[in-house]
Amino acid sequence: MDISHLRLGDARALLEHGATGALPSPEASPTAYVQGVIDGLCELSLRDPLTGLANRRHFRSVLEREIDGVARSGEPALLLMLDIDHFKAINDTHGHLAGDMVLQAVAKCLAGCIRPMDTVARYGGEEFAVVLPNCLVGVGQAVAERIRQTVESLTIKVSPLVSVKATISIGGAYAPEWVRSTAALWIERADSMLYRAKSEGRNRVCIDHQQVIAVSAEEKSLLFGHLSIGEPAWIERAGNESANGGMQGVQS
Ligand code: GH3
Ligand code: MG
Ligand code: MG
Repeated sequence: MDISHLRLGDARALLEHGATGALPSPEASPTAYVQGVIDGLCELSLRDPLTGLANRRHFRSVLEREIDGVARSGEPALLLMLDIDHFKAINDTHGHLAGDMVLQAVAKCLAGCIRPMDTVARYGGEEFAVVLPNCLVGVGQAVAERIRQTVESLTIKVSPLVSVKATISIGGAYAPEWVRSTAALWIERADSMLYRAKSEGRNRVCIDHQQVIAVSAEEKSLLFGHLSIGEPAWIERAGNESANGGMQGVQS
């Protein structure tokens, strides 16, 4: 391969700017060099440039994977949506650059609060999202509360003389167990909890503890179509009841 024929200038510039790590020498191994450029660009495309966290696109793919994992293993997974309270006022009072510094400090703090198996992302402007695989239903509230308190305890220095405090509101929802759902629905449930945390006064955690079970028509026919004896009673119950009881019969 003659790499001088490849137009790699822009890609190299992006990688130098993004500082994703040194590229191998093109002379020593052209293939390793091109692979390094591709890997570096992939890595850049998954990260938010301001905070270095996973970006929204990456987060969506993590969430899709997690939904599959939950459907296979039945282990509970928690999604948290977090939003900085009154962030516009921080920008208005201290300026946009100070706002950026607050975003970076909160992002670093969130990254320090989670386990290696968890993923934290910058989901939008001053909104973050965390997915916690294998998070028991009883501990989700405490985990989210610890994150909230850790952010609240930060003192963020935005200039030599000025420090800023920030709080976050957190909404959470558990993934539907056993049955495939969509990332969009999961996000919607966590988002509505975030909305509740905001409307109840901010700087608080609201978690939807119900693990929704919804059996689609397709899934019903896959499970029971061959029996042709009508629907078992638990299917009707499953959509309305809290999760675990209703589905036990399916696994055994
Ligand atoms: P609430 O408590 O209801 O969430 O109020 P809020 O002020 O945090 O929410 P609002 O949606 O009114 O304002 C969000 C602000 O975040 C507005 C926008 O200019 C700012 N913002 C979004 N992205 C960035 C960014 O990258 N840097 C900075 N500095 N500000 C940003
Ligand atoms: Mg906000
Ligand atoms: Mg917001």
